[in-house]
This record gives sequence, C-alpha cells and structure tokens, in this order.
Amino acid sequence: MTAQNKSATLKSKIRNVKKISLTVLLGGLVTIAVLMTLTIIFISFYTSQKQSLIDNTLTSNYSSATQMSQTLDSLFQSMQSSLDYAAHSFSDIDYTDTAEIGGALDLIRGSSNYFNSLTLVDETGLVRGVSPMGGRLGLHISSTAAKNALHSRTPYISEPYVTPISQRRILFLSQPIFGPNQTFEGYVSGSIYLQEGNILSHSFGSQLKSSNGSYFFIVDAKGTLLFHPDTERIGENISNNTVVHKLLDNQQGKERYKNLSGLDSLAGYTKVPTTGWGVVVVSPTKIVFDQLSHHIRMLLIYTSVPFVILTLIVIRVARKLASPFVILAGLVNRVDQGEVDLPVMKPHWNREADLLTQAVLGALASFRKQTDQLTYDARTDVLTGMTNRRTFEEVIQHWIDEEIPFSLIVIDIDRFKSINDTYGHHTGDIVLKHIAELIRQAVRPQDVCSRFGGEEFVVLLRQTKSSTAYQVADYIRSSVENSAMPIDRTVTISAGIAEYPIHSAAAMELFHLADTALYQAKEEGRNRTITIQSVEK
Ligand code: GH3
Ligand code: MG
Ligand code: MG
Repeated sequence: MTAQNKSATLKSKIRNVKKISLTVLLGGLVTIAVLMTLTIIFISFYTSQKQSLIDNTLTSNYSSATQMSQTLDSLFQSMQSSLDYAAHSFSDIDYTDTAEIGGALDLIRGSSNYFNSLTLVDETGLVRGVSPMGGRLGLHISSTAAKNALHSRTPYISEPYVTPISQRRILFLSQPIFGPNQTFEGYVSGSIYLQEGNILSHSFGSQLKSSNGSYFFIVDAKGTLLFHPDTERIGENISNNTVVHKLLDNQQGKERYKNLSGLDSLAGYTKVPTTGWGVVVVSPTKIVFDQLSHHIRMLLIYTSVPFVILTLIVIRVARKLASPFVILAGLVNRVDQGEVDLPVMKPHWNREADLLTQAVLGALASFRKQTDQLTYDARTDVLTGMTNRRTFEEVIQHWIDEEIPFSLIVIDIDRFKSINDTYGHHTGDIVLKHIAELIRQAVRPQDVCSRFGGEEFVVLLRQTKSSTAYQVADYIRSSVENSAMPIDRTVTISAGIAEYPIHSAAAMELFHLADTALYQAKEEGRNRTITIQSVEK
C-alpha cells in the first residue's frame, strides 16, 4: 500500500467515526440547561408551595373550628334558654294533666326544633309528659343521666349514653322546675339523638364532610365522640388522639399530626366554652400533596410549550450556524480535487461563521492563484513564454492516445553558437525570443509551439498533413530569414517534419524522424525545410 493510499484510508476511517453535529450539540446543551432550570424551579416551587399549602390548610381548619365552636356555644345557650323558658312555664302546671303537658311539650319542641324529644319529670322521678308521645310516660326514670339531672336540681348536660328503653345514643340537657315557693318540682329535659338527624347535624351537616376529604368531629369534655361523619363511631372515646388529648388539656390551636388510623392529618381544634366540648376540623395531608401535584402538572404543561418552541428555534439556528461549515468543507474537498470554480457566497449573519467563510474563500482563492502560477511555471519556458519540453511531451502523448492526426516540425537555429560568440549571450537571448515570436505568429491557436531546449523548437500542428506542415515550416523559415534581427547579419533556421500516424505512431520515434530530417537539412547547407519522406526518398 502506498503512502497516499494509507493516508486516504486513515482519512476515511476518521470520517466514519460517529461525530457529534452542531445541531445535536446545541440542542443537547439547551435541553440540559432548560431541564436543570426547570428542576430548580420545580424543587423551589414544590418546597415553598408545600409549606404554604400546609400552613393555609391549618389556618383555615383552625378558623372553621373556631367559627363552629362559637356557633355551637350560642346554640347551646339558646337551647338552655329554651328549656329554662319551658321550666318556668311548667312551674304552676297540673302534673296529672298529661295531655296538656304533652301538648305544651309538643309546642315547645315544634317551635324551636332544638331537641329530638322533650320530657317532663316530677320531683319523684315519674315521667309526666313526653314529646313526641312515647312509652315512657307514667314510668319512673331509669338512666343514670336522668337520675343525675333529678338530683342535681340545676341545669344539667349529660354525657352521651344509650337509653335503656329505646336503645338510642342520646345527649341530654335539663332545666329544674321550681314551684311558686321555690319548691323543687322536677325538671324538663331535651334529648338530642346523636346518631339520627338532629339540631347539630342540621346546623353543621353541610360541613360534615367536604368533597376534598376534609371533615370535622365534636368530642365532649371527656373525649367521647358526639359527632363524626362516621356515625358508627359516635360514642367512641378518642381521648388518646393527639389533638383531642390537647383539647382535654384545655389547649386550642392547629397542628399536623397522625390520627388514630395513622393517617397524616392537618387539624384545627377549639373548645366550646359552654359545654367544654371540642371541635376538630381535619384535612388529610394527602389533600395538600394532591393539590401540589395538580399545580406541578399545570406548571409542566405551561413550561413545556415554550421549551418545545425554544428547542425548535435552537435546532433551526444550529442548522443555519452549521450550514457554512458543511458548505465550506464540501467546497474545500471539491477545490482539492480541482472540480469547481470558487462560488460567491452571501455574507453570513453569524460573525464567526462569516469570518470563517471569508477566510476560507480568501485562502482558497490565494491557493488557486498559487497553484495556477505553479502550473503555468511548470508548463512554460521562461525566456520565450512558449510551452516547455515537458508540456510538449504531454501534448504529443495525449494526441497520440486520442489518435488525433498531426504533424511535427523540429526547428533549430543555424550557427547560433557563433551569434552568441560574436554578440554575446544576452543578444543571443533576444534573437531566440524574436524567432519564438515569429514561429508563434505562423501557427493557429489549436497548434502547440514549444521550446524544446537551447535554440531548438518543436511545433505540433493539429489535424495537419505533412505537406501543409511543410508550407508552415517553410513560411517560418523564410520569415526568419527575411526578418530584421537585432544584429547586423541574417539569421536562418533549419526544420525537419514528420507526420502522425503516417511516419510513426510512437512519439519518440516520430520525434527522432523529424530530427533526422532536420539533421538532413543541416547537412544540405542549412536554411531549409525537409520532410522525413523526402529523406527516405
Ligand atoms: P548548427 O547550425 O549546427 O545548429 O550550429 P549551432 O552553433 O547552432 O550549433 P550548437 O548546437 O553547437 O550550438 C547551440 C548553441 O546555442 C550553444 C549555446 O551557446 C547556445 N544556446 C543554447 N541555449 C541558449 C540560450 O538559452 N541562450 C543563448 N544566448 N544561447 C543559447
Ligand atoms: Mg542546436
Ligand atoms: Mg543550431
């Protein structure tokens, strides 16, 4: 393998290695930069949003709990006032007239809707009136709560309990009845059926459980559930729940905690002053994360549009940036192979690309100029401006290869040595140039005149018979003889002619035949033209 082949193989190997393109490079860099920026934005957005959403939820739950406890407080005061009013109205009633008592109780219950049922009990514990009418009438009270109410002779609020007869879970408020002489006559009580529709569920029902999963519950002063979205749990003591524990410890506030099922929750909790109960508004922390992921999804959608546009712009710009490099590389390759003329390229909008384009075009132009000069120098004789011997050999071989018929004239100046000796070398040069010019003027553009060496010239006459070549050669001979030379003597030439392919089809032999004819001309006295056939003849 030659050195040239080796270098070509190496070049093609280097070209075949997968290279990263400017488009991929810029596109990749922009993608990395955008992704890193987005990551930073998302992380800071996530962190700050998470904390503010948690804080907002806690604050909103706390304010809901506060509002509800205030509402509950005034509700219970109204309920107690309502019972107090009933107790006064019963102070001088006939306890045996159960129908009237029942009617009065119905009226009170119906007018306020505070209680699910109302009961009037005399000082002996005998149930004297019930609304709505039920089986307890005429019976003695049996529940601990009722007995406590009777014995306390003061306004009383029970703990939730299950009634012995109806098996209902109820809460119970009572107000003592005193006669005209302040004698204790019994009490009037109102019951709330905790696990059925009641004043509390009517008042707060809409807030019991919101669509996002937030809910509230109410505990009594001992931590027993009075209200809960899951009515099955009403009556359950949850005093070991973190926030209920704090409520029992007379604390109010907001906090993130784990509920009894281990669920991460955000709670606002307050106490109801009248009853000592606690209201807790709870949102599962998951709600916050759901909101957060929704926000992030929206952010992603909004940021992805400009990102895609940016990437497309970068790819377009990168392609435009890369195009002069690709064009210039192709151009240099083709110029290297001598294929093209240098194109006129538009100025590029990118400074560096423009600088490179102008520099490469400039370098290529200068390279082309130097190459042209070198080529000219290599092909031309300096003194006469004619093509040189090497070019002559190329042309004759080319014409033979192409089988173009031609005639060859070999010309030698007669006694040139003596011109040099008499007039000097410089004058000899002038004579040489003068004769070269005369030869050139005698031929057509398609013919090739060369200085073969010293004072010898060869002329290739394309598509020309030797007979015509003879005329041309003899014309040159006579024009030299008759031309005014820069010396005071006549200068003459001798010429020999041979024709391709008639005399020979080989360049060397053809030249040798023409030279033989020339030698003959010299022999015969110089200043003459001889064609090779005539030598043979
Ligand atoms: P002939 O008629 O037999 O050709 O005689 P001649 O004197 O021309 O023959 P020869 O070949 O002996 O002499 C050629 C001379 O041409 C010798 C050399 O001094 C001269 N010569 C060769 N090249 C140059 C050149 O470039 N410039 C000058 N001035 N003279 C040259
Ligand atoms: Mg000679
Ligand atoms: Mg000579």
